[in-house]
Amino acid sequence: MFDALAERLEDAWKKLRGQDKISQANIQDALKEVRRALLAADVNLQVVKAFVKEVETKATGAEVISGVRPDQQFIKIVHDELVDVMGETNAPLAEADNPPTIILMAGLQGTGKTTATAKLALFLQKQKRSCLMVATDVYRPAAIDQLITLGKQIKVPVFEMGSDANPVEIARQGVAQATEQGIDTVIVDTAGRLQIDADMMGELAQIKKAVQPHDTLLVVDAMTGQEAANLTRTFHEEIGITGAILTKMDGDSRGGAALSVRSISGKPIKFVGVGEKVEALQPFYPDRIASRILG
Ligand code: GDP
Repeated sequence: MFDALAERLEDAWKKLRGQDKISQANIQDALKEVRRALLAADVNLQVVKAFVKEVETKATGAEVISGVRPDQQFIKIVHDELVDVMGETNAPLAEADNPPTIILMAGLQGTGKTTATAKLALFLQKQKRSCLMVATDVYRPAAIDQLITLGKQIKVPVFEMGSDANPVEIARQGVAQATEQGIDTVIVDTAGRLQIDADMMGELAQIKKAVQPHDTLLVVDAMTGQEAANLTRTFHEEIGITGAILTKMDGDSRGGAALSVRSISGKPIKFVGVGEKVEALQPFYPDRIASRILG
């Protein structure tokens, strides 16, 4: 998915080939290409602007290293900035000193939140960490059934109280049950709406207050491109996230959301979803992505 971005960036490097050194004047065309490439990859405009400005500052302040071609030096600066924006290496899940570790899942409907809940549970189970999934989406009974079905498939128990119960109470009792049973990690799936609304945020905030999660993960659909930035900003401002899961990275998204999320919230993408199956979850390694983008 980053191939198109990588290809477009080639045009930026070309602008510097044949120059003897990096200068304020000769990097302008290269910077324009970087900007164009990032926008074409669906990176949020505000993120692009900040990125290009930072690269310009670093490039103009960079000492000319003898023996290093200007285009190579510029590539290194862009690489370092990509790593700065996305994070150096994989950010692991929180682990509570006193189990259970509580993970709260947040996000819009259809982003892959429920699937990601099961994917995470399976991932943790493979590391011999026992899990309990909690179904608090009482607005869509199908969501509770979906979690139960996934739970059976991966052999992870699901705590639910039907669709008449109060979501905050379900979350609280779910965590209480996990504590009683000595379960290592509780993953609380929450209701999503098609759009952000005050009720949804209010309920999420209440659940968060009630269970005091160690990780609050925003599930972001990579296909939403530019919108991923606004979504991240709103959720972070309203409830405070500690990380994100970027789903549908197997689709034909242009990858821009991978750059926007951390830049906007300061919080890392911890995992990526790469398919519909429960196994299709991978830890996110920003440094590897940066290298892939730059070829
Ligand atoms: P929720 O409403 O946020 O809980 O979303 P669901 O978990 O029900 O997922 C919505 C749809 O997206 C389902 O059809 C999932 O199979 C699909 N989905 C979830 N994650 C991924 C992913 O990483 N890749 C692909 N291709 N599809 C996904």
